[in-house]
Amino acid sequence: MSEDGKKSQLDDIQLQLIERISKNDTNGFKQLLGQLKGGVNFVDDSGMSILAHASFKGNKEAVQLLLDMGADINLNQHGADYTPLHFAALSGNTNVCRQLLDAGINANSINSVNRTASQMAAFVGNHACVETINNYVSLASLEYYTQLHGQQQEPQIPPALLKSFHTFVTEINLHPVRITLNAQSLGLLKLLANLRKALTLMCEKEMQKTHDINELMAFKYHYLGWIVGELLRCEEQFKAQHKDKPAEGDAANKGGDFVEVFVKRVLKENKLGQLDYVEFTVRECAREFPYRECTVFRQIATQLGGKDAAPALVILRNAINGLRGFVDETSYCSTCGQEKPDKKCSKCKAVQYCDRECQRLHWFMHKKSCPRLLAAVLAGKKDQPKAPIDASELREELAKLSA
Ligand SMILES: [Zn+2]
Ligand SMILES: [Zn+2]
Repeated sequence: MSEDGKKSQLDDIQLQLIERISKNDTNGFKQLLGQLKGGVNFVDDSGMSILAHASFKGNKEAVQLLLDMGADINLNQHGADYTPLHFAALSGNTNVCRQLLDAGINANSINSVNRTASQMAAFVGNHACVETINNYVSLASLEYYTQLHGQQQEPQIPPALLKSFHTFVTEINLHPVRITLNAQSLGLLKLLANLRKALTLMCEKEMQKTHDINELMAFKYHYLGWIVGELLRCEEQFKAQHKDKPAEGDAANKGGDFVEVFVKRVLKENKLGQLDYVEFTVRECAREFPYRECTVFRQIATQLGGKDAAPALVILRNAINGLRGFVDETSYCSTCGQEKPDKKCSKCKAVQYCDRECQRLHWFMHKKSCPRLLAAVLAGKKDQPKAPIDASELREELAKLSA
């Protein structure tokens, strides 16, 4: 609370840095950073740190640079008590939220109107940020699973895979294909059995807490463990089949092919375009949740049992991540349910995918509907500009005008 205003205390470089980050001029910002004297922990006249500014702009690169240079996540003299996470939540950038959470920022800090960062994100409709913050668990809290306990011969998760495990657990997309592809890309396929054990234990430990039990997270761990168990079952089936038919060819011999089998099982649509396997699996998973008295279980069970119930995966997602409000115009990957995918089917342009891999995995289903969707798109286009102007119509119009 200095009377003469903090702005006057900032030097030229500091002022320019704030200006550049406010314009999201990342290159200019980077160039100037080298000339900064006295470190990155300073605030402007509103009490906002440079990290808060970068977070507000959702500038992932600048935020990482600042954190690497020792930016203090707790430096907060903002009049309305906004932390950098509040600003990141407003920016809508989930990556920036994660960077700050990974750096250890307190997600429960409230601003002057008693709102946490997650509540601010909900307030402005940044649902993915709400989910990112609410689903977050610290890396340190998972170290337990990389350590030896009791009679164990080896830890459930090798310490070298702690980061992968952390990424796997904090994923907000609950689609079975995304969970599977994450396990694959994070190098966790070799330890599915241990991964399932760790997740089961995480669920138990959450429910056994003496205070601050997070039922939603317990249910999420149960669900993740369930999908990992399904994947494991698929691997065992695949191996057994492979043993019986050794002359199956090269394709079957490549490790991890059960992933392909599992993904196709998940994505196989029935005649109505519904995912039967997902529906069955999610319902079974919910039924087997061991803590029947808790609110989340009852809520999910009631909704699953309702007339004209939504798909089970939607019910589950809404229960764990919260309802997304009325309009959800976000687009999703047809394979893994990831939000705002970058690619489209090049033929029909009616379905979207994260990348070529997601497109490839979905092709066995999409090839049936692609021509139909393409025809619909073309028909739609023809109708819109009312076709090329018809000569007789034009004459009629002209006749009316001159009449
Ligand atoms: Zn995808
Ligand atoms: Zn297509």
